[in-house]
Amino acid sequence: MTEQAVKDAIKEQKLKCPKCQGPIKKYEKFSETIDSVQDGFNITTIDSRGSRVTLICGNEGCGWKERTEYWTNYLEDE
Ligand SMILES: [Zn+2]
Repeated sequence: MTEQAVKDAIKEQKLKCPKCQGPIKKYEKFSETIDSVQDGFNITTIDSRGSRVTLICGNEGCGWKERTEYWTNYLEDE
C-alpha cells in the first residue's frame, strides 16, 4: 500500500472511524515498515512491504486516532 492509496481513501471518504462511524478526515506520519531484516551469513535481506500511518478521525467531538499498519481494516465495505 502506498501513501497515495491512503490519501485517496480519505479523500473519497472510504475510511471509517470505529468510534463515531464518520469518515476519517486526516492522516499523518506515513512510513514504510520493514518486515524483516536478516543479517547473517553475509546476506542482508530487507523486505519492505508494509506501511504504517496515523489515522485521525477529525470529526467534531471525536478524538479518535490510531497508529496502525492495518489501516485497510477501516475501509468501509461496499
Ligand atoms: Zn470519529
